[in-house]
Amino acid sequence: MTQILKGSEVADALSAQTAARAAGLRSAGVTPTLAIVRVGERADDISYERGACKRAEKVGVAVRHVLLAADVTTKGLIGQIEALNADSEVHGVLLFRPLPPHIDEDAVRNTLSVYKDVDGISDLSLAGVFSGKASGGNGKHGVAGAAGDGDEDARTAFAPCTPSACMEILEHCGIEVAGKKAVVVGRSLVVGKPAAMMLLDRNATVTVAHSRTKDLPAAVRTADIVIACVGRAAMLGADYLASGQVVIDVGINVTADGSLVGDVERTAAEGTVAALTPVPGGVGAVTTSVLMKHVVQAAQAAQTRH
Ligand code: NAP
Repeated sequence: MTQILKGSEVADALSAQTAARAAGLRSAGVTPTLAIVRVGERADDISYERGACKRAEKVGVAVRHVLLAADVTTKGLIGQIEALNADSEVHGVLLFRPLPPHIDEDAVRNTLSVYKDVDGISDLSLAGVFSGKASGGNGKHGVAGAAGDGDEDARTAFAPCTPSACMEILEHCGIEVAGKKAVVVGRSLVVGKPAAMMLLDRNATVTVAHSRTKDLPAAVRTADIVIACVGRAAMLGADYLASGQVVIDVGINVTADGSLVGDVERTAAEGTVAALTPVPGGVGAVTTSVLMKHVVQAAQAAQTRH
């Protein structure tokens, strides 16, 4: 029988830990604060923002909204990010992307202070992931100087929240990663590449597959752990899947009838693989909890630096 790895259970456990740490900060006079920077009115952004605010309220993180018109200039947006970098009452910044095409996204994301980059979007944060020195959802790494999570000296940055959420699920569910063969399908900087590095950091043997991979079903079938981050509805069907696999489905795809499905064909997976994250209710449900964990870590680290 396939175990369904529900995100809500992971999110609740993680949020309980984060809430305790946030309460400690508050009693010391520090309110962990996240600034959410949204450009324009994209429905996806608004929906994520709503979920993030709910989660923030649950764990005791304050949210500041920075809402900018869709025609904001690169210079104007960089000015906003610089102001947030300089604001000692803001500990983390979430910037929704993609930005409108007229904006130089690389320039904007690389303006964000690595200390406040709680979704790991800057090159410096990603360098932390690739050097194994970013937060990874396993409590072994985190922001430089953050108290409370072991291995303090190794911390330099935050990993992106989505691959971190994948690691949180594996860890919470007691799934052994070391020595396992993992296949990540997708190589974006937001999900696939950092997920691969985080698995490698946990001593998996990792293959990163993509649109040019030859005989993709055969490559995926050999994996013990599959992370599907392709963005194609139900692409990973029966020919990709094998018994005993743990399958983390990151994909969020809207079908013609408006329903949400993952990258994995659920009916093919259920009954075959050992464990599967559902869509919706899997990885997506954990992402905002990871975001809040990072904000609280950033707030703790800021106290240590000052
Ligand atoms: P992306 O930037 O479009 O990257 C997709 C990756 O999949 C690319 O590396 C691409 O390969 C690969 N790919 C596309 N078609 C393929 C095919 N037919 N065979 C093999 N590989 C293929 O997407 P993303 O931002 O990483 O997001 C991936 C999915 O995760 C989306 O569904 C997105 O909505 C979802 N997502 C979920 C969360 C969450 O919180 N759960 C957060 C972020 C994203 P090439 O590099 O060769 O083009």
